[in-house]
Parts: sequence; structure tokens; C-alpha cells
Amino acid sequence: MSERDFDGKAAIVTGASRGIGEATARELAARGAGVVLLARDRAAIDALSAEIEAAGGRAAAQPCDVADYAQMEAAVALCREHFGAPDILVNNAGLIEPIAHLADSDPAAWGQVIDVNVKGVYHGLRAVLPEMAARGSGVVVTISSGAATSALEGWSHYCASKAAALMLTRCADLEYGAKGVRVVGLSPGTVATHMQVAIKASGINPVSQLDPSVHIPPEWVAKAVAYLCTPAGAAYAGGDMSLREPSVRAAIGLG
Ligand code: NAP
Repeated sequence: MSERDFDGKAAIVTGASRGIGEATARELAARGAGVVLLARDRAAIDALSAEIEAAGGRAAAQPCDVADYAQMEAAVALCREHFGAPDILVNNAGLIEPIAHLADSDPAAWGQVIDVNVKGVYHGLRAVLPEMAARGSGVVVTISSGAATSALEGWSHYCASKAAALMLTRCADLEYGAKGVRVVGLSPGTVATHMQVAIKASGINPVSQLDPSVHIPPEWVAKAVAYLCTPAGAAYAGGDMSLREPSVRAAIGLG
């Protein structure tokens, strides 16, 4: 795999202020892509953008709430202006808090998780698909989860949202796969980020009981996202690639 295999490509990463999104932005930029960094925390994405540029990469930061379609459209316009029409979209932004049993859940907070984890993914697809389909190329990677297919106590909002996001991946692949657009999910397993800190603090289900040493680093997930954007990723179109699979880890060169 060439180290600069994304030279000249334009990428958008949502939720780039920390965790998996931050690592993914660094990985894509290091491999030559111009990367638009989206998140609500402006200071964090500004700092990451400056760091990527200082290292010789190309990045542009844009505050964006993925739950608002107008902000997503504006982000795609910014990408076009700086780096060209997006070749890669990584739908990574996601929420799991507040973790609560259904009877104790706050309806507004439950709905916000749907707004970000489901509508945010839809907004990303809606904003990039017309151009990708017209050009006959492009990759959309959505960060999925085992929660898309397994019920977990206290996570009704999260499980429902990840199931819906997986179905969006399948529908988008059905409609645009034959037009040259690869839409694919990535199920990373547990990853050492802020999200796992929040899960541990909840104490609610078996995931909260895991020892933090079992979580993989976000840099592994970033390499898996990049892998899905290479020709090898075509094999996973319309589905979820699981980073728990030893054969997948081996193909990507992870330990
Ligand atoms: P994280 O450290 O909590 O990061 C979440 C990111 O999402 C932050 O950059 C946050 O940025 C962004 N975000 C949240 N709401 C947003 C909004 N309305 N608009 C734009 N950005 C928003 O968690 P992470 O572990 O890196 O999670 C990234 C993705 O991986 C999520 O989709 C998550 O469900 C998935 N995932 C994680 C794990 C795990 O074990 N960590 C496992 C499976 C799947 P701002 O707050 O600055 O907006």
C-alpha cells in the first residue's frame, strides 16, 4: 500500500475533534488527501488542522453540527472550494450519552442521539451522493457498531441508531453501488476514546465492565477506514467490515 495513495483526493471527516475521527483525519491527510475536519468543537478542529498543515498535509476546519443539513451542505461546499468535490466521506460523528434504561430516558436527549447518529449519516449521504453518482466514483464509510445488530441494556437510542445507519448503508449501496459509489460500514469493536470512558462511567451493561486494556487504539480504526477507501474496500460494499475479524486485521496489517 503506497504511503501517498490518496494524493489529490478530497475527504470529509465528521466528528474530527477527537477519538476515531481525529485519528482518521490524520491518517487520510498523511496519505495525501485534503481533509475537511467537521465537529462542533471549533478550537479542537482548528488545532488539528494547523497540526496537519505544519506536518505538510492539507486540511481545513469547519464547525458543523451534522444534525443540521444546511451545515453539512456548507461543509461540502467548503471541501469543493479547498480540495475539489469530495472523493471520500467518513460519517464518524456519533453520540451515546446519556446512557439510561428506556423508562428513565429523557425524550429530548434520546432524540438527539437519533438526530446525530441517523440523520447526521443521512445528511452526509444526501450532500455527497449527487456529485459522486454523477462522477461515477466515491467512497462513503460510516462508522458502525456491534450495537447495530445486538441489543444492549441502557443503549436503546444507540442500538436503534446504529441499526438505522447500517440500513442507510445498505440502501445507499443498493441505489448507488452500480453507479460506481462505494458505501460501506465499519464496525470497529471497542476503541479507546472518550465514548468508552462514558460507557465505563455508566456501569450499566457488560461493555461498561470491560477492562480498558482490551480497547483498540483509534489509529487502528483510522487505518481500517483508509483500507476501505482503497480498491480492496470494494469487497465490503453495502455491509459492515468488522475489525474484530483476525483476517481483516491481518489484511490491514494490524497486530
Ligand atoms: P468520541 O471520542 O466521543 O468522539 C465523537 C465525535 O463525534 C467527536 O468528535 C464529536 O465532536 C462528534 N460529534 C458528536 N456530535 C456531533 C454533532 N452533532 N455534529 C458533529 N460532530 C459531532 O467517540 P468515538 O469513539 O471517537 O466515536 C466515533 C464513532 O465511532 C461514533 O459514531 C461511535 O458510535 C463509533 N464507535 C465507537 C466505538 C468505541 O468503542 N469508541 C465502538 C463502535 C463504534 P464535537 O463534540 O466537537 O461535535
